[in-house]
Amino acid sequence: MKIICIGRNYAKHAAELNNPIPQEPVVFLKPDTAILLKKHPFFIPEHSNEVHHEIEVVVKINRLGKHIEPRFAHKYYDEIGLGIDFTARDVQAKCKEKGLPWEKAKAFDGSAAVSRFFKLKDLKKPISNIDFHLDINGKTVQKGNTKNMLFPVDELIAHVSKYFTLKTGDLIFTGTPAGVGQVHRDDLLELYLEGERIFYFNVK
Ligand code: ZN
Repeated sequence: MKIICIGRNYAKHAAELNNPIPQEPVVFLKPDTAILLKKHPFFIPEHSNEVHHEIEVVVKINRLGKHIEPRFAHKYYDEIGLGIDFTARDVQAKCKEKGLPWEKAKAFDGSAAVSRFFKLKDLKKPISNIDFHLDINGKTVQKGNTKNMLFPVDELIAHVSKYFTLKTGDLIFTGTPAGVGQVHRDDLLELYLEGERIFYFNVK
């Protein structure tokens, strides 16, 4: 199982980090060891002093596919969840400055917190209009809707499947809206999908 992540997929988030609007999806990977184990807190890793939260809609792939055309992409998923793409922003800034890869900033153990998954047909909403938000200690810090994606989910699937064969159980983190910021010890993170809290955990 692999985790494919999309960077800069919401214009306001690209702008808040002074990144240009991408001409094609920005893609990076996390290994399966990045998954935050269920009912575990997130531990801030020793190699960073500035870990940021990025709430994202996560799409679970349900069949094998390669070179998927956008018009068929919807056949490759039927469940979504929410996740946090934890990012060591200080480490990432150094990597970007030196033109180095991002894995130390993005793919460390626990850096992919993922909720349980929900059938799109049960949500009764199209993938192109999903509301989600993140509260930290009771205050909303990030709020998004999938309609604001620069590259919608079906285009992301078409794009990434040109490079990587998609397999059942693979996850796609679809990018974060504006409002990213640092997490601190003892923070409580609560993730809401369509107004319902579906996942929460602490930072240690
Ligand atoms: Zn992200």
